[in-house]
Amino acid sequence: MAQRGRPAYKPTKEERKLLRELRDTLGEIKSLEAERDDLIKILLDSPVPAQQIANVLGVATATISRRRRPDDPQKVAARNAVTIALRNGELTYGPCEVCGEYPTQAHHHNGYNNGHELDVIWLCREHHHHTKA
Ligand SMILES: [Zn+2]
Repeated sequence: MAQRGRPAYKPTKEERKLLRELRDTLGEIKSLEAERDDLIKILLDSPVPAQQIANVLGVATATISRRRRPDDPQKVAARNAVTIALRNGELTYGPCEVCGEYPTQAHHHNGYNNGHELDVIWLCREHHHHTKA
């Protein structure tokens, strides 16, 4: 007996347009998520009280306190330099050097010392986490 498979579905022109829009929107969301992560890092490194940050993010104050890192002025300066360079176009996000995915974070592969503030490679959250482990 002959196979009576369903004929392959061909999206209409309108559906293809919607798919393109969806793909573009998802790309924008990923960029915004990366930007939000950078802003959160700056806030965590700032003297803004943990309670205020927690209120804005809708999380418990303890969550913010736990995520606050001990002061490492060179690390903070290097991280801020990257954020500023991203804003003024001196740096742009690249795909993860390991898996090619977005969104990515700047990894200071040569440390944070003078001269290496913008010496970064791009890693997704997962692979960035691995470099710290
Ligand atoms: Zn990766």
